Formats: sequence, structure tokens, C-alpha cells
Amino acid sequence: RQFYQRARRRKKLIGNFQNDLYDQCLQFYGQPPLENISLTEFETFAVERLKLLKTVENVGVSCGKSSEQYTKKLDAEISSLNFPHRGGISEYEKRRKDHISHFILRLAYCQTEDLRRWFIQQEMDLFRYRFNCLHSKHKTDFLHKNNLKYETVSAEEKKNLKDKLIASSYGLSGTKVEEHDVYKVPFQDALDLVRTRKVYLLAGNAYIPHHEIVTIVLNDFRTRLSKALAMTARSLPAVQSDERLQPLLSHLSHAYVGQDYSIQKNIGKISLEQIDALSGKSFPLCMRHLHKALRENHHLRHGGRMQYGLFLKGIGLTLEQALQFWRSEFVKGKVDADKFDKAYAYSVRHMFGKEGKRTDYTPYSCMKVILSNPPSQGDYHGCPFRHSDPELLKQKLQNYKVSPSGINQILELVKGMHYQLACQKYFELTHNVEDAGFSLNHPNQYFTESQKLLNGGRDIKKEVDMSQRSQENPASVTHPSQANSKQAHEEMGDLDSFFQDE
Ligand code: SF4
Repeated sequence: RQFYQRARRRKKLIGNFQNDLYDQCLQFYGQPPLENISLTEFETFAVERLKLLKTVENVGVSCGKSSEQYTKKLDAEISSLNFPHRGGISEYEKRRKDHISHFILRLAYCQTEDLRRWFIQQEMDLFRYRFNCLHSKHKTDFLHKNNLKYETVSAEEKKNLKDKLIASSYGLSGTKVEEHDVYKVPFQDALDLVRTRKVYLLAGNAYIPHHEIVTIVLNDFRTRLSKALAMTARSLPAVQSDERLQPLLSHLSHAYVGQDYSIQKNIGKISLEQIDALSGKSFPLCMRHLHKALRENHHLRHGGRMQYGLFLKGIGLTLEQALQFWRSEFVKGKVDADKFDKAYAYSVRHMFGKEGKRTDYTPYSCMKVILSNPPSQGDYHGCPFRHSDPELLKQKLQNYKVSPSGINQILELVKGMHYQLACQKYFELTHNVEDAGFSLNHPNQYFTESQKLLNGGRDIKKEVDMSQRSQENPASVTHPSQANSKQAHEEMGDLDSFFQDE
């Protein structure tokens, strides 16, 4: 009986805590969730937030964050994603999901510097958008509720500085100075406003008009979030020892939230003779690069074979075709047919789920290629936008006849770490279209979209064009050891048998 009473009390406490926490549509995520949730809900919430953050990233880059179009496009895209939007009142479930999913992604994205940076950037952009959508009264309520007290400039100081404030602040008139608060913060807390010369500076302080308060709130949000991620990373070993959560979290940081390319829609539609031509026209840069390396070296290491082999499987090669493809190329190098059958045919059959754990492996998504298993010397796998030196990338793009202005646009996106958007730009430039019309998440998606465009909406057209076949230059490469290969198989097996990349 005592147990039930305690459980009821705890439930009531959690209920009160949540009602209080979710009374506003915007959160500072200061309190972690306390309730128990199922593993299914855990995964669904996480994947949905990932979709939300990917949308924020894509819209930010395609429209420019300060444009009017940015808010309109985000408005349209976010309204369909089932997260708190423009402060609706009966939104308890959405707010709960917003809260819980943020904390789940903290666990997944605290693991490396790259992941942390990406997560903080998208969360900040989302926060800014949501804060700007709030009515002025709700903004003040939010500041009070979260105890965000910024030093306000006294009426007398405002009077003395009135002319200077009006002259140096963006969108500030005489009446506004008198009626609204002006905040005084160290200039380094408002660098965005200082950089764009939107505020008055005096003795190391920036004077922020009320309508620009989002800048300092965001600064606070960033500081708290990066501290929180550092703390989360410290407690990660404890979370990772939970064998239910560990694979989920590791998958999430590589997660791809689009179509499942393991289902071979085009099985058998591609002939081996088409591959050279297709690699020049419809393969993304990562696969074009792997194909060229294979043709030149007659070999690829394990990472390359997995990335390229699964891609080929995704575009429609059958197991028999794949075996023939790899064998015919390897025997031109240092591997004879017998050795191929003994050492390599197994891994091709493994990819098709015919060996080992019989997992039907899924082609790698961009996130997986970009974030896991970076290539080292002698490897050709990975994403050229992420893993190539910018100078090498530039040369490669020049070789593929991308215009100098196009190359600059791509390199700018790479500099901002928008690798998939850089790849999308490469798609637009090489297909001669203004707007790709899709949001790139997967090398196989790149291929499908390219084929649709080139074939006027139809999927894959049979064509035999050997003109783009690369020259075959024998080169020496190191063969992977059997031990490495076995270990990699096992790792793949463990991960992918748990997650059929949705
Ligand atoms: Fe390949 Fe994706 Fe990188 Fe493009 S962004 S090169 S499709 S991994």
C-alpha cells in the first residue's frame, strides 16, 4: 500500500512539474524530463526532432537566415512537423515531445566536436525563429519565467544618450527609446549586433534596444547548451553501458531520415556496361570518385567496397552482377580469380545478406558517410565535400568541368560545413538546373533524382555509352588484412541488424 501511495505521489509531482514546464511554447531546456517513456517513443521523438533540425538547416542555407523568405519557408515547413508552432494553446503533447526529444538528441550529439557544433547551431536557429514568433508580452513572460535579468539602462542615462542611441541603433526612434527598455551588456555578448553595426557601443558595453533582445537571450542559450553538452558527454559512459540505448544513440548521430534505399526498386534494370556512363552523369561525387579509383587501381579497400558496393546494390545491381563487376575489376589488378573467390566474394555476398548474420545491408546515407569512418591514406571512401582537402576538391571539380563561380559557391558551402548542400549545388550545376527541387540526404537519392531529371520523369533508361570510361592505370594498393575485414563485418553486422536505416 505504501508503495502505491509513493508511486501516486511521484506521479502527481511529475504531473505538476510538467504542467508548469509546458505552460509556454518556448523552452530553455533547463530541466531534464523526469517521466518514463518507452523505447519506441524514445526513438520516434528523436528521429522527428532530427527531421526538424535538418529542416532548419536546409531552410537556413537555401534562403539566408535574415531574409523574409526564411521565416515564411520555415513557417510553412515547421507547421507540418508536429512540434510547437506559433504558440498554439492546446499543445501539451507537442511541448512534451519538444522537451523530451531535445534531451535525447543531447545524448546523441554530445559525443564529438563536430556533432556538438552542428547540434548547437541548429538548436540556436530554431530558438531564434521561435522567439521571434512570440508576441512581445510572451517574450517578457519568457524572460521572467527563466529568470533572465539583463541590466536595463536607467531613464536618466537613456535621456543623456538619446541622440546617440537613435543614430547608432537599427530601427529605434525617439518614442521607442523613451517607452521601451534598453539593455546594457558586455559587447562580446552581442557580437552579431556589433558585427552588423546595429547597436551603440560605449566603454566596452553594447546598448541593446528591446526589439533586439533575442541576441542576448540566444547568447545565453548557446552558453547554457554548450555547458550542458559538455556535462552530458561526461555522463555518457553510464548511458552507453545500457545496451538498449547505446546502439540507438550511435545510430541517431548518423541517422538518416528519408526513404529506405535498401528496397531495390530497380533490381536488374541496370547493365554492367552502363555503369561507366552513369558514374559520369548520375553518380554523386563520392561514388564517382570511388568508381574512378576502382577502375584505375583495380582494387578498393574495405571501407570503399562497402560504401560503393551498397550504393550499387541500391541502384539495382543483382548479386550475380555485383560478383561479376567486382571480380572482373579485381582480376585486372593483383588478385587472381581464385583469390577473389576466396577472399572477396564472401564480402559481396555478405552485403546482399547471403552470408554471416544474413542482414540485408542498407546503402549508406550521407550522414553515415560524412560522420563515420573517415578515410585514411590509400582509402577512397567518405564524402569528398567533407573529407577532401579544399584545394583537391577544387581540382576535382575543375576536372569535372564545373564553372569557376560554381566552384566558389560549393567551396563556400563546404567552409560553412554544409556538405550535403554543397553536393546539392554540384547536382544543380552538373544538371544545369536552378533548383534541385529536393533535399539531399542519400547518395542513392542523388542517383534517382538525377535519372528522373535526365529521363524526363522516368526512372532509369538503358543506355550504353562507354565514352566516359576512365583510363585503366594499374597502381599498387595495400590489401586489407583479413582480421580488419572480419572485425568490420562484425561491427556492421551488429549495427545494421539493429537498425534497418529507416
Ligand atoms: Fe556522397 Fe552525400 Fe557526400 Fe554527396 S553529400 S558526396 S551524396 S556522401
